[in-house]
Amino acid sequence: MLRFIDGHHDTLLELQHGADAFFTGLPSAHLDFPRGTKAGYAAGFFAVFSPNPESDPAPSLLPAPAGYMKTLPPKLSREYALASTMRSMARFLQLEGLSGGAFKVIRTITDLKKAVEGRWMGGILHMEGAEALDKDLDLLYVLYHAGVRSIGPVWSRPNSFGEGVPYGYPSSPDTGPGLTPEGRDLIRKCCELGIMIDLSHLNEKGFWDVAALSDKPLVATHANVHRICPVSRNLTDPQIDQIGRSGGLIGITYSIDPNMVTPKAEGDPEASLEDIAEHIDYVKDRIGVEHVALGSDFDGTVVPDAVKDVTGVPALLNVLEKRGWTKGELEQLTYKNWIRVLDQTWR
Ligand SMILES: [Zn+2]
Repeated sequence: MLRFIDGHHDTLLELQHGADAFFTGLPSAHLDFPRGTKAGYAAGFFAVFSPNPESDPAPSLLPAPAGYMKTLPPKLSREYALASTMRSMARFLQLEGLSGGAFKVIRTITDLKKAVEGRWMGGILHMEGAEALDKDLDLLYVLYHAGVRSIGPVWSRPNSFGEGVPYGYPSSPDTGPGLTPEGRDLIRKCCELGIMIDLSHLNEKGFWDVAALSDKPLVATHANVHRICPVSRNLTDPQIDQIGRSGGLIGITYSIDPNMVTPKAEGDPEASLEDIAEHIDYVKDRIGVEHVALGSDFDGTVVPDAVKDVTGVPALLNVLEKRGWTKGELEQLTYKNWIRVLDQTWR
């Protein structure tokens, strides 16, 4: 069976009441240890994400001639984000101890390679939104040493570093201002420390700011092709080309909330594995097989019935094989591209 690295999932949200549920089984989640093992899940990016506080107003719908456009949720307070981040990180760091050697917090390429070889299941610690960080970035050093190896400066909301896209369809990702001076400092510090920057959720001005500042391969861990599905979260052709030129990587997501797969405004549970494969092949044909990977967004979204959960991934890989993918190309998609990019990014 092909073993794969997953670029993004929010499974830590499912572990708020205890990390041990990851091993005993999480029927409400897309991913847990038993099903991941069965599916060939070798390692993945575990996102630390602060949900909107229940006291905040939910994003409302703006008038849109066709489709929809939502407002951005308000900024989070740092106090709230910090508490939420510490709770999720603690759950993540507890996984290794609870696993009896079967789960490893991935801090090095060597440990990531061992995950692919089957020595353990690997978890890469990712921050989805940098709200918990102080402006001087002192906490960044602490979190790096605790294991953080990837940061998306923003989720789909504004913060002191930049602004994410509001959800809209059809909509360009060019929805607001670029990185703030603090955001530019964050990118420079991450490059220095060897923390990967995730471009997912960032608006287009922010994307080009990162492209200008970073000397590392550009990565969007969970984003699809705007040309196929013109939702604000997807990547335009010039963005895809820039990721290719930088030697970077796009993790294709199965998200249908927002629907990032099929050209429909509303969520599409009927979206097929072929529909997902269209995005994978588009990136492969446009910028090369070395720039495409998997980035499910499990447990952070709704996925099509054809995927259902992590055990649906092998069927997606079968579909690609039927579309002409060689074994070598599938290995690039599933793990070799991640290993190359992270090897060039981490210190
Ligand atoms: Zn996300």
